[in-house]
Amino acid sequence: MTTAKAKLILANCIGCGACVEKCPTNAIPESLVGYISGLAEIDEVKCTGCGECIQTCSHEAIILEISRDTVKKVDYIIE
Ligand code: SF4
Ligand code: SF4
Repeated sequence: MTTAKAKLILANCIGCGACVEKCPTNAIPESLVGYISGLAEIDEVKCTGCGECIQTCSHEAIILEISRDTVKKVDYIIE
């Protein structure tokens, strides 16, 4: 299974808050707005990888990280 999670590149972020408002799952912390916190991270649990924030950000401050589930499913066991 392939999963996608948004990652913040804080060095590119101007703290405009556009992505915070756009995220449907509230995965982006409000502390990002105006740089209240320099430790802002997107909540990986809440993020569904929809990509809305990336389209909203005009500063290339968010990327999508794609990962592939490497856990193999066992179809059957021979005894
Ligand atoms: S990819 Fe979607 S769910 Fe994840 S932080 Fe961006 S807008 Fe929110
Ligand atoms: S839209 Fe981009 S620049 Fe604005 S707060 Fe979000 S990540 Fe930062």
